[in-house]
Amino acid sequence: MFRKAHVFFTILCGGSTAAIMIAMSLLYLRVSEGNLQSSRFQSFQNDIGTITANLEQSTYVSMQWLSRLEAQSGYIIYVTDNGVPFLHNSLNGSIDLHSQSLLQESLDAYDTRIAIEPAMPDGNSYSGIWHIEYAFASPTTGDSYYASRIDIERDRSDTLIMILSSLRPLRESIHRQRILFAWIDAIACAVLFLFAWFFTGRILKPLRVNQEKQLRFIAAASHELRTPLSVILTSSECCENASDEERGGFLRTIRREGQRMNGLIDDMLTLTRSGANRFPIECKETDLDTLCLNACEAFEPLCRAKDLTLAFTLPETPTARCRCDADRIAQVLSILLHNAVSYTPPGGRIELALRQRRERRTFYEIVVADTGIGIADEDKPHIFERFYRAEKSRSAKGHFGLGLSIAYEIVKAHRGRIAVHDNPGGGSVFTVRLPA
Ligand code: ADP
Repeated sequence: MFRKAHVFFTILCGGSTAAIMIAMSLLYLRVSEGNLQSSRFQSFQNDIGTITANLEQSTYVSMQWLSRLEAQSGYIIYVTDNGVPFLHNSLNGSIDLHSQSLLQESLDAYDTRIAIEPAMPDGNSYSGIWHIEYAFASPTTGDSYYASRIDIERDRSDTLIMILSSLRPLRESIHRQRILFAWIDAIACAVLFLFAWFFTGRILKPLRVNQEKQLRFIAAASHELRTPLSVILTSSECCENASDEERGGFLRTIRREGQRMNGLIDDMLTLTRSGANRFPIECKETDLDTLCLNACEAFEPLCRAKDLTLAFTLPETPTARCRCDADRIAQVLSILLHNAVSYTPPGGRIELALRQRRERRTFYEIVVADTGIGIADEDKPHIFERFYRAEKSRSAKGHFGLGLSIAYEIVKAHRGRIAVHDNPGGGSVFTVRLPA
């Protein structure tokens, strides 16, 4: 499902940005090509202006001047004097077939233009020299040209100069520009899609991690519930054919396992509420000294029964009252002390300490240290995860791997921190920090 969503969002995100980019580059190309064409036509018209100015000043049209002009400007120039071709650019004294047809085509294009626009409003005339510029495409070669027809009317001569400028270089530079833009767009699209892939991947990652967590939670919860349930089912089957004395034992087992299931379901509900970000805490002024003392008193019998020493250290000066949810903090203390008792062998020592500290700000620190089996470094990052148990094979009954995750959520809801590290003398030290 996430793979599909990843692909979908990549296509959506990458495709839309790529479409916008392509549309913008097409628009830019269109504008730039238009500008290129109009500036090319403008410079052609300027050149023609200069040529006609020169022609005005001279009384005749010089062959050398025409040849030089043709060589320098790259224009194709045809001249007819009273209808006779002026062969300034011919080697063998005659105009070649291609040039002849090009000249004819340019004249035809001019005639068509006259037919379409008989008034010829854009023609320019200076004292007997009359010229007009236009564009046409050669029907035989398909090449496009800018053309200028210059008519010079003087006394008894009627000279026609046709100047053609091939648009092939312009077309080639436009083509090169298009190819360049196509490459830029292709590379940019690839980069965009790559970026979209990583970007959407990053966005979807928390959702995927969350879903995986939920699935793990459900799987682990089902697994944990199945064990007491199967014991209950087996015991109830055995009850049917058991003697009165045996039945009492089976019923006790059923009750015990039922209570275990009840505790587990309570824990799961607590965690479900924290997952929905509505962990219920009711903060009020609380005496942490009393809270710790009560927890100590509650665990005293259990420690004595397991031959464990339980020590409680209070700060020298009485701590100020802390704003917290007393019941929830008592639950955290109970989880930590319960673990300390469970994972410390007989003869060990458990210490509970409360202190007020000040670093950048004041906070309360509750420390539960034991001389038990300790927690391996590779397990430390995971022990606050749901259903995680470091010592799976040795886990005592009633331990589902939920206690520390509940403690973590409670402390988090108080904007505090919970951490674990090794006890220098062996065992673990859990530290809970609550903001004052
Ligand atoms: P559990 O109900 O299994 O104790 P917790 O979430 O409270 O679940 O603890 C997770 C795991 O962390 C435990 O299974 C145990 O392996 C380890 N652990 C917790 N507290 C201690 C401790 N005081 N000493 C050693 N290991 C501990």
